[in-house]
Amino acid sequence: PSQYVADYLDEIYHSVVKQDPNEPEFHQAVAVFLQSIYPLLEKEPQYIEKGILKQIVEPERVITFRVTWVDDNGKTQVNRGYRVQFNSAIGPFKGGLRFHPSVNTSIVKFLGFEQTFKNSLTGQPIGGGKGGSNFDPKGKSDNEIMRFCQSFMTELARYIGPDIDVPAGDLGVGAREIGYMFGQYKRLRGAYEAGVITGKAPDFGGSLGRTEATGYGTIYFVQEMLKDNRMRLEGSTIAVSGSGNVSIYAMEKASQLGARVVACSDTTGYIYNEKGIDVDTVKEIKLKRKGRIKEYLDFHPDTTYSEDCAGIWSVPCGIALPCATQNELDEEHAITLVKNGVKVVAEGANMPCTPKATEVFLNNGVLFGPAKAANAGGVAVSQLEMAQNSMRLKWTFEEVDERLQDIMKSIYRNCVDATKEFDNATNLIQGANIAGFKKVADAMIAQGVI
Ligand code: GLU
Repeated sequence: PSQYVADYLDEIYHSVVKQDPNEPEFHQAVAVFLQSIYPLLEKEPQYIEKGILKQIVEPERVITFRVTWVDDNGKTQVNRGYRVQFNSAIGPFKGGLRFHPSVNTSIVKFLGFEQTFKNSLTGQPIGGGKGGSNFDPKGKSDNEIMRFCQSFMTELARYIGPDIDVPAGDLGVGAREIGYMFGQYKRLRGAYEAGVITGKAPDFGGSLGRTEATGYGTIYFVQEMLKDNRMRLEGSTIAVSGSGNVSIYAMEKASQLGARVVACSDTTGYIYNEKGIDVDTVKEIKLKRKGRIKEYLDFHPDTTYSEDCAGIWSVPCGIALPCATQNELDEEHAITLVKNGVKVVAEGANMPCTPKATEVFLNNGVLFGPAKAANAGGVAVSQLEMAQNSMRLKWTFEEVDERLQDIMKSIYRNCVDATKEFDNATNLIQGANIAGFKKVADAMIAQGVI
């Protein structure tokens, strides 16, 4: 970048750090973003002149609230709830809720920031937001989960609405939690506003295909990356970390399309089988029984198991899909993957690769699909759910899946086009950030400063 743009970006970054010094994940997301959009700023200085960068790194609203609930022993418990309404330039705030002990302002802000550009990339009219709580769902009874969700929604309800802010799931929040939260919202409002939250069960306003959407979408995106580079998914070997919906359905779609999933993991370890992992067995263990990945060995004893979760990045594979959580794949893992011949890495989780790991991939010619683009399928189908709710009708699974495929293809195209415009044809990070940013920034300019 020119000195002027470099200095300006530096100034923005340092003011973010100075303002909130204890938010490392948010700083990381902002740094990666700022470093990648400079070619656009060189070409179109109005974004600097109109102060768009300064505004875009500051959430429109950060809400925290107390969530009290009574556990099964009759004891009162207190957690903290969060909702960050990051940017509403192109539509109502939209983004998931995460229930995990690690949730704090930094995590929710980083996720909300990423969500803003991801949602813009989908081409749909949705702004960016994120929320959650430091509540740990692990080991809680169904009744405790229900009471927590109800209490959480009692507070959150005043800030959301189908045209205001539309939450959904993320880590620790699935169809069950969404159901409890929607029920509470409905009681409080006294109205059936189905479009207030997405990821509902298909029986009461949920979209078919939403559960599969993020994982399937990641594979559709990988397919585009491969096609564009004269490679094929068929016959490739894949390692997928994480054991939630993203990883399970990425595995399912990959194997349906003829790839061989050789390794997968959960928070307790990973399994490896060079001949291939049977995805239905993993589904049965993780989704139905809510068991541990080690149980796979009961069905297929010829499989290797290790308790070192990150060890999954030491297995030889052509495609690596980190689908667990932020910063799970670091520089050392990246070096090992490259040594073992990895050709493609796509982020199913949000920011799972550290900046140093990403650098290793880019420097070694590995095709890299950044989270904003590669995992946008989930929120894209959430928006299709909102659309169905507004129309009071329901599309078939095939209809939703077809739209998802189109959306992932166009996200890929938009990233590549934005990248090519600045003649750096392999770096999709730049393409995703520039394409995502441009639409939000133009809308902000068009709507004026108050
Ligand atoms: N939590 C998901 C994400 O990171 C989905 C959000 C949504 O469906 O609103 O994009």
